[in-house]
Amino acid sequence: MSGIKSDLIEFDLTKDKCFVCGRKANTVEHLFPKWLQHKFNLWDQKIHIPNETTISYKQLLIPLCKKCNNEVYGQLENKIKSGNASDAEIWRWANKMHFGLTLKNQFLEWDRKNPGNKIGDIISPSDPLEQSRHFLHCVSGDFTCSPDPFGSVFKFQLDYEEDFNFIHIINSQSIYACLGDVIYIVFVKDGQTMKEDIAIKEDYESILSGKYKMQDALFFYAKCIEYMDRYTYSIPIVFSGKQILKFGKATLRDEKPFDKEKFSAICNRFGITWIDSNDINKSP
Ligand SMILES: [Zn+2]
Repeated sequence: MSGIKSDLIEFDLTKDKCFVCGRKANTVEHLFPKWLQHKFNLWDQKIHIPNETTISYKQLLIPLCKKCNNEVYGQLENKIKSGNASDAEIWRWANKMHFGLTLKNQFLEWDRKNPGNKIGDIISPSDPLEQSRHFLHCVSGDFTCSPDPFGSVFKFQLDYEEDFNFIHIINSQSIYACLGDVIYIVFVKDGQTMKEDIAIKEDYESILSGKYKMQDALFFYAKCIEYMDRYTYSIPIVFSGKQILKFGKATLRDEKPFDKEKFSAICNRFGITWIDSNDINKSP
């Protein structure tokens, strides 16, 4: 990503500042909204975070200002709750979840070289988290983005109720959220590269055209994660004024061979078992 000076509001990530826009915080809200915790009885359940520990959903709290509380936790959550959210709204919601969880990890000092430092002390303009804030400013409405949604949004509508499932992968900056009868897979910062890829697109459309279950969406997500790992793209992004712009197409920089073991491990991590059909054919 290339950076041109943008009008990002200066703020330290503290309890006194709204985590979405940086203005003065007036309230503290649950990152996983109350309606979601009620619906799936998540209050005392725990989410796995990448530092190999767990934290309960009810402990994930974020400071918000009045404006963001109404817009992010009012309008946006209502849209997600109703199941009628547009791709742009799903992307904003995923953005908020991705950043909130990443922020939480930072507060917990995960993967940082200087234990004892909090995020406000160690953040720099080239920090991926600092870049995330540009995207978060699209959630508060302080910034616009093109394309909108800026990332790839995949939606699966089930004809039955599934258990709640939430996966957050920091490397790919993506989330998988199964909210009962609907599943969202969102790549927050990919400039819609995944959505525009012909192989991914064909796979997605072929799943949607048939009868599918939760496992199909999960398997699709595993394939996307493997794909992202295999192909390295350079995405031309400019942060300018109050805008995030993608100009031109993503360029393929590197391609690795398909790694069976790695893909198998991703599937296992998601609770699905992948068997290579070539191996079945080879068996006596
Ligand atoms: Zn705010």
